[in-house]
Amino acid sequence: MTRAAGRRPILHPILPGSTIGVLGGGQLGRMFAMAARRLGYRVHTLAPEHDTPTGQIADVEVQASYDDLDQIRAFARGVDVVTFEFENVPAAAAAAAEEHAIVRPGGRALEIAQHRIREKSFLADRGIPVTPFAPVKTEADLDEALSRLGRPAVLKTAALGYDGKGQVPIGPGVGAGDAWTALGRREAVLEAFVDLELEVSVIGARGVDGQAICFGPVENTHVRHILDISVAPADVAPSIAAAAIEITRAVMEGLDYVGILCVEFFVTRDGRLLVNELAPRPHNSGHLTFDACRTSQFEQQVRAICGLPLGSAEMLQPAAAMANVLGDLWANGEPDWAAALALPEVKLHLYGKSEARPGRKMGHLTALAATGHQARAMVIRARDALRLV
Ligand code: AMP
Repeated sequence: MTRAAGRRPILHPILPGSTIGVLGGGQLGRMFAMAARRLGYRVHTLAPEHDTPTGQIADVEVQASYDDLDQIRAFARGVDVVTFEFENVPAAAAAAAEEHAIVRPGGRALEIAQHRIREKSFLADRGIPVTPFAPVKTEADLDEALSRLGRPAVLKTAALGYDGKGQVPIGPGVGAGDAWTALGRREAVLEAFVDLELEVSVIGARGVDGQAICFGPVENTHVRHILDISVAPADVAPSIAAAAIEITRAVMEGLDYVGILCVEFFVTRDGRLLVNELAPRPHNSGHLTFDACRTSQFEQQVRAICGLPLGSAEMLQPAAAMANVLGDLWANGEPDWAAALALPEVKLHLYGKSEARPGRKMGHLTALAATGHQARAMVIRARDALRLV
């Protein structure tokens, strides 16, 4: 077994039989753990909750706060490599883990991706197109930024925002003071509101040796700011697809990244590609790779962080689609699983969460087909079948 060597980078692979530590306990860690265990690795997970989606699959589940650095250090000592399934792990926790184990992706990628101002500045400094933005630390900053970027605009917290949480739209009638108060007077970024044609994402994998393989772009539609449906391949011009992959590679290169990185893009009505945000982990829009590709995003993460060759991202059929199953589907009782499972072309994934709340991601459905249109219709049909109890 390969033992962790403190901060020194090791280039020899961490082989099957070794132990991988995952910080975070959600569904991304669960599917990662499934891929890791299939390849013969042991998996430990640490999260503040108990009986987590990841913990149900892992060999060892540690319940601890990310602020409990002694527990983080003890956790890191027990594994060969540490990775994340949740990017808002505090920087101090990543640093504590790095004292005792290899951490991939490294703390710098995490630091950049968990803070919108650092993230946008990193991208803009490299000439990568981003949504027009301005950092906001005070109400006066916001006033000035609004006169520069105009309305409509979106005010987003610099840290800890996801799925539309921590965002305040600023329309023609909204004053800076009201928006600043609505966001909780926290460090933020103001973004010009983009006239979107569609949203796409690329899931990139990069190995220790710099080998990079990208999947996508995938086309994503959201409902109430939460991803609803993903379809691969995205219906975009080949030049847009190539540019999205080129940008993803450049971002991974710029961060000297090891692991899985998702880049979310806006495609504007006038045909421009802008980066919306980075996720330094597997992404909801890549869940369809589990069924649709030779190598899923989760297996790529295992291979990348263990220093093994990446797998092929080739699709097994020309198109695939994924529909999220949210807690809202439980409004009238347990969904009709048998009805969805009766559709032979559809795969059901559930994350083992016992409490269904509105907006909570409980599972997803995937389907492969000859066209994206067909695949999308199949997952929508399956999800509709769940409701018809
Ligand atoms: P985010 O949490 O930044 O990914 O935002 C969630 C969703 O809100 C995005 O996927 C978009 O659908 C929408 N959105 C966010 N920022 C903007 C923007 N500047 N212009 C238009 N739509 C946006």
